[in-house]
Amino acid sequence: MVFQNVSTDQFEQLVFCHDETVGLKAIISMHSTLMGPAVGGCRMWAYANEQEALTDVLRLSKGMTYKATISGLNWGGGKAVIMGDAKTQKNPAMLKRFGEYVNRLGGNYVTAKDVGIGSEDLKAIKTNTPHVLGIDGVEGSSGDPSPATAWGTYHGMKASAKAAFGSDSLKGLTVAVQGLGSVAYYLIEHLAAEGAKVIGCDVDQVVIDRAVKKYGIEIVRPEAIYDVACDIFSPNALGATINPETLPRLKCKVVAGAANNQLLTAQEGFELLKRGIVYAPDYAINAGGLINIYYEGGQAGRSGYNKQAAFDHCQKIGQTVAQILERAAVEKKPTSQMADQMVEERLAKARAEKK
Ligand code: NAD
Repeated sequence: MVFQNVSTDQFEQLVFCHDETVGLKAIISMHSTLMGPAVGGCRMWAYANEQEALTDVLRLSKGMTYKATISGLNWGGGKAVIMGDAKTQKNPAMLKRFGEYVNRLGGNYVTAKDVGIGSEDLKAIKTNTPHVLGIDGVEGSSGDPSPATAWGTYHGMKASAKAAFGSDSLKGLTVAVQGLGSVAYYLIEHLAAEGAKVIGCDVDQVVIDRAVKKYGIEIVRPEAIYDVACDIFSPNALGATINPETLPRLKCKVVAGAANNQLLTAQEGFELLKRGIVYAPDYAINAGGLINIYYEGGQAGRSGYNKQAAFDHCQKIGQTVAQILERAAVEKKPTSQMADQMVEERLAKARAEKK
């Protein structure tokens, strides 16, 4: 059953970690170490059963390989899940034990934050392994990834505008921003500076007030964001917001935002193509957070966090998105499919060179 799951997508290694004495049940998935260590956060979640946890860790770790590879990082893709309720079942002994398991992998898997695991938890994990990235407030840390993600998303959006409108200037364009959280807050700063008009929405009045106060943007109800007359629709909230119900309502010529897993299924990629909407593939445009931790202590041949190098690399997301869009136009394929194909070509080449 497990091998059936992992063979089609060429997963390299799965590690099942178990220690009853501290309540630890975790799975580490190293999808690929072809380009470098399998890097990816650790998620703690109250999965309904083991199959659900396994499905999640496989899907997420494969996604990390694709994000790292499309971004030109010398990293592979990995992820870990700890089964349990992060609010009631997490304890330092469990996290330290998890750190031991990470350490046994000798740096082939490098862990970081994800849902349910924060900086304090990473500190506990780090007592037993150096293979941890993204701890806020410690020396050499890259801190909050949102500004880097927003910087990369902004440049990916400009590249998408170029493909749709012939110019990468966002001046005078209307951008409908779904979600006004951490990434969107920084993204709007760049949009406002360039003279774009922003119409936003959120379900949280606190972040709405913050964005309105700082940027004076127009606000619509969350459900109404899909019907806004705009040039660019920018999803920055949850996943799967491009789906059969919402897609026919979009008035934009570009979809470019930081949210993960924006398309409900691969079919939406074809629908966007059919409707002539330029779609910046999510894992390519939102890779700024991953790129940012790449430039943390000891990574990329540097010691300490190199902010300038990180942001320069994030800016290159513009070129990456442009390459995907150009090739997709030539090959008449959905941009989402094109991005996957480009990753798979790079991995196949690296595999062949290794042999
Ligand atoms: P966040 O939680 O700070 O912001 C998300 C916002 O979306 C919140 O303000 C929330 O209230 C709002 N929201 C939730 N449901 C909504 C709805 N139905 N309609 C409108 N708004 C809604 O998260 P973030 O860090 O800004 O990340 C935003 C997205 O980008 C997420 O999908 C995340 O996975 C992805 N992402 C973030 C980073 C990063 O560096 N933070 C990196 C890569 C990808």
